[in-house]
Amino acid sequence: MGKDYYKILGVSKDASNEEIKKAFRKKAHEYHPDKPTGNEAKFKEINEAYQALGDPKKRAQYDQFGSNFDQARGGFSGFGGFSQGQNGNYEFDLNDLGDIFGGFGDMFGFGSSKGGSKTRQGNDIEVTMTIDFNEAVFGVEKEVSLNKTVTCEKCHGNGAEPGSKIDTCETCKGTGRIIRVQRTILGNVQTQAVCPDCRGEGKKYSQKCTQCGGSGVHKKIVNFKVKIPAGINNGETIRLSGQGEAGSHGGPAGDLYLQMRVNPSKVFKRDAYNLFSSVEIGMVEAALGTKIEVEGIDGRFTIKIPEGTQSGKEFIFKGKGVPKLNGHGRGDHIIKVVVKTPTNLNRKQRQLLESLGI
Ligand SMILES: [Zn+2]
Ligand SMILES: [Zn+2]
Repeated sequence: MGKDYYKILGVSKDASNEEIKKAFRKKAHEYHPDKPTGNEAKFKEINEAYQALGDPKKRAQYDQFGSNFDQARGGFSGFGGFSQGQNGNYEFDLNDLGDIFGGFGDMFGFGSSKGGSKTRQGNDIEVTMTIDFNEAVFGVEKEVSLNKTVTCEKCHGNGAEPGSKIDTCETCKGTGRIIRVQRTILGNVQTQAVCPDCRGEGKKYSQKCTQCGGSGVHKKIVNFKVKIPAGINNGETIRLSGQGEAGSHGGPAGDLYLQMRVNPSKVFKRDAYNLFSSVEIGMVEAALGTKIEVEGIDGRFTIKIPEGTQSGKEFIFKGKGVPKLNGHGRGDHIIKVVVKTPTNLNRKQRQLLESLGI
């Protein structure tokens, strides 16, 4: 059956809607976490019970199936505490509402303070890295040096000088939350926000960390190695998750984006995973056929030029191109043959050519 919501609100099973509402208000005020008699767990439970019983349709469902039914579907507990306060203001808890309304919290200018968290994600970093043509083809390991925000080693990110005295935060009286009232189209909306003084921690350290000044993070030059995968191309970006700037107060780090610049090659042009190069041969070699040595990305190799090869003819060498980023195979190497036509022939050469009659 799960929880007995009637018992939680202290009403009988045949209580009227009005009675349920009244009971909820009374208990919600009693256990509101900001009250001296507050109890967050109880407050949440009361909210949950009211979500189930305050709505006649849900109440009928609850009467029939109990609370387990709803929990399985993310039911009653999902809506968090949304109640009408004593002066007609709405009070609700952003932590619970956040999941339901998505960016609803932003409407009131608190950002997404999900879970009352004081943490903040670190910034992403974008840097440009230049590598050579062959390094891009075969992959390379590069040393990166970044001046970035890192978690303070001395205080491990909490901003307190190790060993210093810990006091309760005055601003929020140790709850880590403050109540703010905002005017909106719904009337005055009272919201809970993370205490800006202690950032939700509820405590203050008597002495700030001397290394980071209390921010929990500081700038530092960090050197590390990055493996650039074989097949990367000019203009492509590598994302290194978590290698960006450290988040403050233990928040997750941002990402590092490496924008790749690849120096051009003197020999090869590249299109995706295919390589292109050209080679010159003489008129006689083109006519009679020959074997020549060409430059490939893996080193020199010999190709056969058949007799009667025309200038501009392309020869395709399968699998001699750039290794594919996904690790499956390689592109091709396309070699274009350019036939050199002789110039400045002397009289004898001219006569000989003419005598061939071709
Ligand atoms: Zn520190
Ligand atoms: Zn505080």
